[in-house]
Amino acid sequence: MAKSSTTYTSGSSPQKILFAASEALPLIKTGGLADVAGSLPPALCNLDLDVRLVLPAYPQAIERAIPLKTVATMRISGVPEPVRILEENIEDRLHVYLIDAPSMFSRPGNPYTEASGRPWGDNAQRFALFCRAVVHIALNQAGLGWHPDVVHCNDWQTGLVPALLAQEWDRPATIFTIHNLSYQGMFDLSTFVQLQLPDKLWSSEGLEFHNQLSFIKGGLVFADWVTTVSPTYAEEIRTAEFGYGLEGLLDHRSERLTGVLNGIDYHVWDPATDLDITQTYTADSFHLKQTNKLALQKEMGLEQDKDAILFGNIGRMVEQKGIDMVIDILPEMMQNQKVQIVILGSGDEQLEQALLEAAEPYPGRAVVTIGYDEALAHRIEAGCDCFIMPSRYEPCGLNQLYSLRYGTVPIVNRTGGLADTVADLNPATMLDETATGFVFNSPDAASLLEAIQRAIEYYQRPGLWWEKLATRGMEQDFSWDASAAHYLDIYRMAVDSPAKNPVAAA
Ligand code: ADP
Repeated sequence: MAKSSTTYTSGSSPQKILFAASEALPLIKTGGLADVAGSLPPALCNLDLDVRLVLPAYPQAIERAIPLKTVATMRISGVPEPVRILEENIEDRLHVYLIDAPSMFSRPGNPYTEASGRPWGDNAQRFALFCRAVVHIALNQAGLGWHPDVVHCNDWQTGLVPALLAQEWDRPATIFTIHNLSYQGMFDLSTFVQLQLPDKLWSSEGLEFHNQLSFIKGGLVFADWVTTVSPTYAEEIRTAEFGYGLEGLLDHRSERLTGVLNGIDYHVWDPATDLDITQTYTADSFHLKQTNKLALQKEMGLEQDKDAILFGNIGRMVEQKGIDMVIDILPEMMQNQKVQIVILGSGDEQLEQALLEAAEPYPGRAVVTIGYDEALAHRIEAGCDCFIMPSRYEPCGLNQLYSLRYGTVPIVNRTGGLADTVADLNPATMLDETATGFVFNSPDAASLLEAIQRAIEYYQRPGLWWEKLATRGMEQDFSWDASAAHYLDIYRMAVDSPAKNPVAAA
């Protein structure tokens, strides 16, 4: 497991943090970023910081945040209408601002894509506007009477913020967190021109990447500190295999690149209190978990069999997640009559179709549900014995952390956050009692199958072996407290030693 090495020793302590993201629970979610942006800011508030979360005002976010009040109105270049800042009107330590520009954000469906799955044609304009609004707030020019010490940006949708702020004298420190390097926000030169970004940003030291405008480079190049969501992913993205051509830049910034493992929100994901599951349970009452298994089997149309080993998988159905490997090995897995599997997800239509077809020959033992269903995700975590995550790469991954908490033993590829959070069961880890799951070393179907077979064999051992393994996972602590404290250290380092602006005039 990789270890992170940042420690803070001296300097001023930042108090006011502006946290910018394109999605955050409970207002809007498409993936793990929303989990993080929904739970890290409250964890930072617990450290007595004044944290303000800023998001675009999508219709779903407005609906869930009502009542709202307008706290400021701004003019932003390139946008005909005045842009309002709406604030969630609740008594909470965490302030939530929504950037309301109806021509950009008031449209149905997904924040990033049309119903067909195609990115909105004006995403560059939409998120450039969001970035400019964040910059106004960051420079105390939005009329909020508040000047943050740190702006914490997340993923490409916020990438222009560090780039634009770096051109200012009296600016807050900037942090940029990579949640997934493969999404970069790439647009053509004419978009750069149309966005009226400063000319000097069009260079290979700036936002240009292979003759395209790269939003993510704004964060990677200009932020005072770059973080990503696990120590191993922080190493991996400095290699050609995982770096998408940005590995040289990331390597160059390695002294200011830190992996901070995501936490999970145990208010939402805890089998002791989970209202979505049939039967709550703890490590001490692990035997009660079986009630959830029988209920899940019934709900999903599987044979109700407490002795079958039930595998689960939840996630976006895209190549990254390695779900195609599950398709490849399903016939072999299913040869064992005591094996069942339940899969929930949506994404690539071809993969969805291929999965449905792969499960068809095994009614009562294999079921695939296409869709997005939070409550069902909780019931799958509670009801399964094992959770499969064969991701080809995984910046952090959340489902293996939920699985550990629910005593649902994870089977994972040794990559990114999966490598950092699951300890493989082998003679050494059995002896020192640290194993929490099954880890395989290469993202291919044969390695996945071998790990699954190891799990089946272990599950079928007489005695309490399985329970011991599963409950050890339940006892791991992946709460946000430690990660939030680590971010605070990074904020301090960023405030103390601002990065040089690589495109500043000499
Ligand atoms: P990523 O951000 O790459 O999609 P993560 O594992 O970091 O992957 O986070 C995914 C989050 O989205 C988890 O909270 C997971 O439970 C949830 N999720 C993904 N797909 C679905 C789905 N079809 N139904 C319910 N929850 C889902």
